Amino acid sequence: MVIMDEFKLINKIKQTYYRNASLIKGIGDDAAVFKQTNQSILTAVDTFVENIHFIKDKTMSTKQLGYRCLAVNISDLAAMGAVPRFYLVSVVIPPNWEELDVLSVFDGLSQLAKKHQMDLIGGDTVSGDTFVLSVTVIGYADEEKVRYRSDAKVDDIVFVTGTLGDAGIGLDILLNDLKINNQSYFINRHQVPEPRVTFAQLLNKIDRLSLNDISDGLSSELNEIAKASNISIMINDKDIPVNKELKKLPDHQQIKYKYSSGEDFELVGTTSKKNWNQIKQAAKKAGILVTKIGQVVTSTNEQVFVDNYNQILKSNGYIHLK
Ligand code: ADP
Ligand code: MG
Repeated sequence: MVIMDEFKLINKIKQTYYRNASLIKGIGDDAAVFKQTNQSILTAVDTFVENIHFIKDKTMSTKQLGYRCLAVNISDLAAMGAVPRFYLVSVVIPPNWEELDVLSVFDGLSQLAKKHQMDLIGGDTVSGDTFVLSVTVIGYADEEKVRYRSDAKVDDIVFVTGTLGDAGIGLDILLNDLKINNQSYFINRHQVPEPRVTFAQLLNKIDRLSLNDISDGLSSELNEIAKASNISIMINDKDIPVNKELKKLPDHQQIKYKYSSGEDFELVGTTSKKNWNQIKQAAKKAGILVTKIGQVVTSTNEQVFVDNYNQILKSNGYIHLK
């Protein structure tokens, strides 16, 4: 696509009205302007490069690409306890991409944005050799309800939402011809992940909560919480929620998918035991699964244990025997 069409493109992707009252100026000047006086402002960015993070029309459609790139960003905000409000899109367009492809990326973005009452407030459009999509999100949270991964405390319970490993299985079906039942379920979990915003917001009354979204696999996220909070975690392998089809795979594959395949965009968190009922109720209301998988234990060296103190779960998903 020739970049001379930039103005035409911007006119096509520009919203006809904005949903958020805190927005003062959206697309159309040198910078967007918004104002929020009583809350913290949170921001995150994620970038997708063609043939590295996705293969066009093989791992996902262009519309799904847009949807997914916004979804993973919203997931980061959800994991911080924030409500998503705005997004900016930077796009590098190579000559072999048609305008229709680019527009369908924006179509996917706006579909999910609408669901979360978000506004597209700016971006940048340039030409280049490879298609690149970079989405920046902005959200709001009450200052005392921002959920840091450094807030875990000894005796907390550890919980996760949904089932783990599904998205990794979906990607292996698409790329490596993995044989499994219910293929479309797993493929969907890869292509159109659902960020857990509603659930995270329903936890708003809880005083203290540490939270991460699962983008790099459970093992990596748990180790990050342990390090950031200076605690250790003990999880029970049999309690990790997985799809029943995953249980039919060989052991080493089950371990790979549930601990390290990542990109499920579920949430993992810790909070005091007294809050478990509230967590369960929030999940029920949000229509998702939540499972207690372990607890925070005292230990000096910030580790994640599986089933007993002799099995250490490393960040990469490898279980190391002491
Ligand atoms: P400037 O030269 O001031 O950076 P541009 O010509 O790049 O302005 O963009 C004009 C307007 O269109 C700006 O408001 C910018 O944020 C917006 N814009 C440009 N590209 C995109 C995009 N890919 N997505 C959303 N908004 C965009
Ligand atoms: Mg610009």
